[in-house]
Amino acid sequence: MHPSPSSGLPASTATPIAQSLGVPLDRAGRVQVMPNLTIPERSGVFVIGDLAAFEQDGQLVPGIGPAAIQEARHAAGNITRVVEGKLYVPFRYRDKGMLAVIGRAAAVANLRHLKLSGFIAWLTWVIVQPLP
Ligand SMILES: Cc1cc2nc3c(=O)[nH]c(=O)nc-3n(C[C@H](O)[C@H](O)[C@H](O)COP(=O)(O)OP(=O)(O)OC[C@H]3O[C@@H](n4cnc5c(N)ncnc54)[C@H](O)[C@@H]3O)c2cc1C
Repeated sequence: MHPSPSSGLPASTATPIAQSLGVPLDRAGRVQVMPNLTIPERSGVFVIGDLAAFEQDGQLVPGIGPAAIQEARHAAGNITRVVEGKLYVPFRYRDKGMLAVIGRAAAVANLRHLKLSGFIAWLTWVIVQPLP
């Protein structure tokens, strides 16, 4: 096993693409990112989604689909901003609740004050999962 360049993680823990960046990785092999989703000292490199360890209000943003989509949109917006000669703006994750498919036509949902399970939760997932 080869250690990752900066964290000492075993090669099997971190993905090759994370290791190739040569930046600090957390224990799960995620890349610690700046508030604007870039990595330290390489402001043109964005890391988003499950690969990013993004801390907000003292907590890591969860590795879920909506977080990845929000980060992707924000990174794209920041790239557009820099092309237009503007500065990056920091990312802020908006938690809209949790939806998880747990079986065939079955899910659990925790959407702020609304908790659902089973088929009705799955139907909700079908409707809302394309939304960011
Ligand atoms: C079993 C399971 C169930 C889940 N259920 C839910 C759920 O119900 N709700 C929810 O919100 N989230 C769920 N998640 C989490 C969600 O899937 C992830 O948070 C989300 O997919 C992260 O998106 P991403 O783009 O970061 O990574 P991914 O969706 O994993 O996409 C990364 C892509 O990069 C590609 N790739 C990797 N390395 C390279 C490379 N070197 N070059 C080019 N391409 C590369 C991969 O093939 C992959 O297509 C689940 C995850 C798992 C594993």
